[in-house]
Amino acid sequence: MRLISILLVLSAASPICFGQARPYPGPDVKEIYNRLLPQIEKIPIFDHHAHPGFADDPDVDAMAAPPNYSAPLRERDTNPELVAASKALFGYPYDDMSPEHAKWLIEKKAQLRKEQGNAYWSNVLDKLNIEEGVANRAMMPDYLDPKRFPWVFFADSFMWPFDNEKETNRNPDEKVYIPLQEKMLHRWMQQENLKQLPANFDDYLKFITSVLEDNQKKGGIAEKFEVAYFRPMKFGDPTKEQAVAVYKKYARGGIPAESEYRTFQDFIFRYLVTEGGRLHLPVHIHTAVGIGDYFSISEGNIMNLENILKDPRYSSTTFVMIHGGYPLERTAIWLAAAKNVYMDSSLMEVVMYPGAFKDSLKQWLETFPDKVTFGTDSFPYNDALGAEESYWLGVVTARTALAQALAEMISEGEITEAKALEFAHAYLHDTAVSLYPGKVH
Ligand SMILES: [Zn+2]
Repeated sequence: MRLISILLVLSAASPICFGQARPYPGPDVKEIYNRLLPQIEKIPIFDHHAHPGFADDPDVDAMAAPPNYSAPLRERDTNPELVAASKALFGYPYDDMSPEHAKWLIEKKAQLRKEQGNAYWSNVLDKLNIEEGVANRAMMPDYLDPKRFPWVFFADSFMWPFDNEKETNRNPDEKVYIPLQEKMLHRWMQQENLKQLPANFDDYLKFITSVLEDNQKKGGIAEKFEVAYFRPMKFGDPTKEQAVAVYKKYARGGIPAESEYRTFQDFIFRYLVTEGGRLHLPVHIHTAVGIGDYFSISEGNIMNLENILKDPRYSSTTFVMIHGGYPLERTAIWLAAAKNVYMDSSLMEVVMYPGAFKDSLKQWLETFPDKVTFGTDSFPYNDALGAEESYWLGVVTARTALAQALAEMISEGEITEAKALEFAHAYLHDTAVSLYPGKVH
């Protein structure tokens, strides 16, 4: 009898010495959570995906939000968590965001911006214990310190060099997006001193490579695609001759048929992926649902990328699945079985509340804990809900969900506490940093 009760006590305290996981957490889970959270808060973060900057800066992204799109509950400006964010970051003295109170916040930020100058955004990172945060932006501004904000530039625009009349008029979202892709392509052409598209295709490919190389010299650590907003994510495998034929036909004008345009884009995408391998420039791809009312969930589905990710020709390219394929993140984690494929949780922890995000993160950590990275997808939605507040929302949600997921895994006898902290460091910092040797720390 005595022995049995000793065994019972032992099994409650340290279930894994019995080597069998159990299906529910024990009564110790809260205590473990409370022990883990402060340790997790001390881990300096590497934010793998964000768009830092002021709301009046058009370069925070290479695209823009369509007007009046249906934002999910947590991303609306009615989210009461914004009050908590503003209190934590700026000492906001009110308990609501009524227009006259929000004015206080706008003025406070403007005052700090004036006082702190180029240190403003680094100070926001300091407040949240973010060591470095990726700036996925069209171009870098003077006001972000490149030591704290490594640049990830956009590579989509090379796929839209022709007359885009048809592409632009597909729906009201594309009317916003495609002209911005044209603008981006023109900026790259200006950068390389090109007045018009090169007459032949090989020179067009050379132009693409020079942009990648020059951007890398300017500090770019990765190339980013948000192509799911503009066309299906299923990429065919055309020959170079097929791409040359389309280029020849339309480089000097004319509107390509959709199938011709797709063939050309399929080839260019694969070229960019191959160059990403050669130049050690990881390829970031937006893989979640997107904003806008016309985003195609089936065509933008992450699983459409499987033929690219598992193609041995691209085994030297590092792929980062930005936003983890959400809401298909549970299937998508298995794509990370490929050695060169990583999952990033940005946006997921902002769209989902901590309870739901905890379940997704736990499933990821139970599958490929060494292949998952943290990001906020911080973005300046408007003057009141700025990139500052979205940094806070991402960081705080991820830390609490991570502590809870790991506490459950410990309590359910899956891992030790030491292993859990190893997973926490990997997710919040180490795994992402290992993808950019010598470029970030
Ligand atoms: Zn983003």
